[in-house]
Amino acid sequence: MSYKLTSKTAALQPYDPSEGTYRIRLDANESFLMPTVDDRELMAGAAADTALNRYPDPLAEEVCRAFAGLYEIRRELVTAGNGSDELISLILSTFLQKGEKVLSVSPDFSMYRFYTAITETPCVVMDKGDDLRIDPQRVLDTIQQENIRLFIFSNPCNPTSLGLDREAVHTIITGTDALIVVDEAYMDFWDQSLLQEADRYDNLIVLRTASKALGLAALRLGFAVANPTLTAVLRAAKSPYNVNGITQAMAAVALRNRLYKDEYRTLLIKSRDWLIAGLKGLREQGLLDKVYDSCTNFAYVETIYAVEVYEKLKERGILVRLFGDRHLRITAGNEAENRELLDTLDFLLKIAVHRVGGKGK
Ligand SMILES: *Cc1c(COP(=O)(O)O)cnc(C)c1O
Repeated sequence: MSYKLTSKTAALQPYDPSEGTYRIRLDANESFLMPTVDDRELMAGAAADTALNRYPDPLAEEVCRAFAGLYEIRRELVTAGNGSDELISLILSTFLQKGEKVLSVSPDFSMYRFYTAITETPCVVMDKGDDLRIDPQRVLDTIQQENIRLFIFSNPCNPTSLGLDREAVHTIITGTDALIVVDEAYMDFWDQSLLQEADRYDNLIVLRTASKALGLAALRLGFAVANPTLTAVLRAAKSPYNVNGITQAMAAVALRNRLYKDEYRTLLIKSRDWLIAGLKGLREQGLLDKVYDSCTNFAYVETIYAVEVYEKLKERGILVRLFGDRHLRITAGNEAENRELLDTLDFLLKIAVHRVGGKGK
């Protein structure tokens, strides 16, 4: 007798977007800012006071209250997760019955399709088309034609950096009775959040994360915001102690005392604007084909030299993300990182363009 992996399990690969070490990491959309030493000591103090012999609060009340306070919403609408990643997995495995279909769009965050694949949930993928934007009416038509029960998408979108405005999202939510999951991982960088309205709809879950603008990726903390009925389901279906005690203690201090929000976000947005302006400069020289307007803390660019440039940046210790063979996603870093990235891109693209014989402009 011998146990054999199925084709599904045999094909699984650990999530490791970046083997190796790099001087400049612009690949994971993290904040480049850390709390000050004083603030970190405050958080460390809270961690040290945690009762390590006890299970943590299963509902992470303190941290949910701090999150609700920060965003001025009702605490009763908030569920905490071990990163929003856990919540995505939880939602996809809880709200669908066997055989019910999910709609995803392409390009979008890869984890949606990963979790539907692993749970063998049928997933219809709608291509966004050349402008990479979501057309609400096409979404509604597809939901109806394909009998979709759950539509999940990121807004603003990772990887395209583009946003769908609130009105368009309203159109989708009110045009269907499917469950709509809006992953607002980057909404701290834009102003079209549905957080304040989560309670108004019976078919909406909004996801947020502490990993991006809030600069707490190491803690693994995300939030689902939805009406009390959906929230009750999430709390009942999640694993009991999903957010560990150290994370709860440190994040409660960070969120309650606003160790990030305004000032940090301003710096991140400034860095993003500076990066985008630099990239648009390269496009004007004919070195890039497209630079998308960003509602996030990263840039998405198109170039036929994407693969070559990605590899050569890596050789120089700079890591970005490659999508397909024509797109790069570049996280806005600190000033020195952005400058080195732009200088190196300028250099590499000029070599590539000139080798092909002055193509470009
Ligand atoms: C980074 C990211 C997440 C992951 O957030 P965690 O809370 O760190 O798990 C979720 N959704 C999108 C679109 C992201 O880019």
